[in-house]
Amino acid sequence: MFLYFYNKAKDYFLAFLHLFYPHLCLECGTDLLPSDSVLCISCEKKLPYTDLFSIENNIIEKIFWGRNVILAAGAGLFFTKDSIVQILIFELKYKQNKKAGWLLGRIIGAAMQHLNRFNKIDLLIPIPISLKKERQRGFNQSIVICEGIQQILPTLKMASSLKKKKATSSQTNKGRLQRSEHLDQVFELQEAHVLKGANLLIIDDVITTGATLEAAHKCLWQARPNSISIAAAAYTL
Ligand SMILES: [Zn+2]
Repeated sequence: MFLYFYNKAKDYFLAFLHLFYPHLCLECGTDLLPSDSVLCISCEKKLPYTDLFSIENNIIEKIFWGRNVILAAGAGLFFTKDSIVQILIFELKYKQNKKAGWLLGRIIGAAMQHLNRFNKIDLLIPIPISLKKERQRGFNQSIVICEGIQQILPTLKMASSLKKKKATSSQTNKGRLQRSEHLDQVFELQEAHVLKGANLLIIDDVITTGATLEAAHKCLWQARPNSISIAAAAYTL
């Protein structure tokens, strides 16, 4: 009996909330969408999926050739300007919309799920952001993406083994090119012993030049893992 009234009250409450904060698909605006998502099923189906996870020597892996030893790499979606993918990333990073990040994570998880190339992963390693950004944003978007991956692959553990070092004033004043050379020194390892002999999957939101991931890889490599792979929510065309 109590449960009945509780559920009824919850329904009314949700309906009331919906009136003021309508839950609408970010792409087409319909209100017929799963409560844990930001897109309706039809718009989710129409996203620009990449298939890169299943392709050996794909364009993302080629970015790291001659630079880092990568077992496998992939990205869930193609990122283009003014697209729904840009909106999803924007919602996650600047509008505190964790549901957008969970969706992006689920897309990665579903793409990797049955692939031999990704079936030995032990640990998800989110790319860290600075403490200042984390305070402004309320969370690290890569961690939210990891949580979405875990919704599909619950046995995968997450380890926040990378920490972003505080930017020194000399770094902030340098030009873009010089700054990218200094990316090598932006991360530091935490609890490196957890990583030794493990198969790692670094998680990032968008891959553009790969410079951040290259630096993260170099840092993690010092802990002597068995392998490092890379997965991003989106890849910039
Ligand atoms: Zn829709």
